[in-house]
Amino acid sequence: MIRSLFKKKNKLVIRQRSQHCISRANIDPDALKVLYRLANTGHIAYLVGGSVRDLLLGRVPKDFDIGTDARPNQIRRLFRNCFLIGKRFRLAHIVFGRKIIETSTFRRQPETCDSDNGVYQTEDNTFGSPEEDAKRRDFTVNGLFYDIKTFSVIDYVGGLDDLTRRTMRCIGDPDIRFREDPVRMMRAVKFAARLGFSIDRASQKAILEHHADILNASVPRVCEEIFRLFTYNSSCIAFKMLWEYKLMLDLLPDIHQYLEGSGRQKSVLWSYLAALDALPSDEVSVSNGVRMAVLHYPIFIELLKKTQAECPTKRVNRQHVARQVLHSAAHGLRIPKASFYTAVTLLDVQRRFAEPPRKGRAQRFVMHPVFPEALAFQSVLTIAEQKGSAVLDQWRAFYEQETALRRPQRSDNISPDKVDEARDAVPEQMPRRRRRPRHRKARPDQMARRSENDDTNTPPVTVKEVVPETAT
Ligand code: ATP
Ligand code: MG
Repeated sequence: MIRSLFKKKNKLVIRQRSQHCISRANIDPDALKVLYRLANTGHIAYLVGGSVRDLLLGRVPKDFDIGTDARPNQIRRLFRNCFLIGKRFRLAHIVFGRKIIETSTFRRQPETCDSDNGVYQTEDNTFGSPEEDAKRRDFTVNGLFYDIKTFSVIDYVGGLDDLTRRTMRCIGDPDIRFREDPVRMMRAVKFAARLGFSIDRASQKAILEHHADILNASVPRVCEEIFRLFTYNSSCIAFKMLWEYKLMLDLLPDIHQYLEGSGRQKSVLWSYLAALDALPSDEVSVSNGVRMAVLHYPIFIELLKKTQAECPTKRVNRQHVARQVLHSAAHGLRIPKASFYTAVTLLDVQRRFAEPPRKGRAQRFVMHPVFPEALAFQSVLTIAEQKGSAVLDQWRAFYEQETALRRPQRSDNISPDKVDEARDAVPEQMPRRRRRPRHRKARPDQMARRSENDDTNTPPVTVKEVVPETAT
C-alpha cells in the first residue's frame, strides 16, 4: 500500500527581509561566496536546514548547508575547490581550507511503501523542486530556506510557526517518518534538548510506539547520535527524554534498569549529568571517555559496593568492575575502543583523588596522558556530590606545577643582552670544515656479499635445477 506522507497541505509562507532577523553579517563568508556564485550564474541558491533554524533563533550555526537547482556536475564546473561525494545521491563538498560547505541539488522524498514488515522506500533519491526538498527533511524547523537573491525566508512546511511555538514536529506522518529512518527519533530528542523545545504530541506517541525500531538502525550512526546528545551542555535533559520515550530501554538497557530502580525522575544519575552540563562548554578534556564514565558512574559505585559486600575480606578489582559495567554499552553501541578504555581508567583511578597529591607516585600519575580527563571527571563528581573542592584544587595546582617544570624553557626568557652577546661571539661566516670520507675496511663476509650483488662486474649465474625425468 502506497501511503501519502503529507495529509495536510501547508501554505507557502515567505517572510521578506524586514520580517525576519537573518543578516548576512551572521552567515559564513565562504557560504556567502558559494551562494552568490550559484545565484549569479542563474541558479536558485538557498541556505538550508539547521543554519536557517539557528539564525532565526539567534544562535550560531554549527555549519552552513546550501541547496540549489544546479546539478552536481554543474556545481563542480563552477567551483575548482569542489569534490563530489556519495554514490546514491551525489553531494558537492566545496572546500575552503579546513571548512566544507556542503551543497546539494534539491531532491524529493522517495515514495513510501508501508507493509506489515516495515516501511520501505520504493525508489532511490531523485532530483526535485525546492518544495519537494523541504518536504523530504525530518522536522518542520529544519525545513526552512533562506534565499540569497531576495534575502527572504521561505517556508513550505510550517517551520516558522513551530519555531515560535518552540516545537519539534515531524514533516509528514511521524508513524511513517520514524519507521523509515529510526535515527530521526534520536534526532528529535537531540534538537528538543539542545534548543529547549518540546516534541509535538503525535511525534511523542509515534516514538513511544516505534522506539524498538532503533535497533534496526545502523549502529555507528546510533553511536554518533548518542555522543551528540552530550553536546551543547544538554545531556541531562536529552537522556531524560531518551528514558521517558523508552529509547533508553533499547539503547542502554543497563542504565534504563538502573533508573527504574533508583528513583526514576529523582535518580542520582541526573545530578551527575547536570554536573557534566555545568562544566564550561569549551572544556577540552571532556572527551567521549569522560562522558561514558559519568553516565556509568552510579552503576559502577553500586556494583563496587555489592562486590565488596559479597567478599568483605578481599580487595575489589576496580578495573574489573569498571569493565563489567561498561561492557554492555561498549558491545551494544560499538563505542570506540579508545573511549571504552579511557572510561575504564577514569572509573578505576577516581579513588586516587580521595587524598591530596604526594610526591613520588603522584608525579607519575599527573604525567599520565589521561590525567586531564581524570581531572574533568573528578570535577563532575565534585559538583554533583556537592563536595568541597579543596583536595581537587590541590591536584590541579600540583598538575600545573609539574607541567610547568617539564615545559621546555622558551628562548625569550633569556635577556636581550645575552642574545646579543651570544650572536657577537659567533663569527659571521664560520669556516666550513671539510669532512673527510671515512673508509672503513670491509669485513671478508661483506666483500663476498658485495661481489654477489654487484651484477655489473660479473654476470648473474643462473643455476638450472636438473629435474630427473620420471616415468609417466
Ligand atoms: P546541526 O546543528 O547539528 O548540524 P542540522 O539541522 O544542520 O543540525 P544535520 O545533521 O547537519 O542537522 O542535517 C542537515 C539537514 O539535513 C537537517 O536540518 C535536515 O533538514 C536534513 N536531515 C538530516 N538528517 C535527516 C534525516 N535523517 N531525515 C531527513 N532529513 C534529514
Ligand atoms: Mg548541520
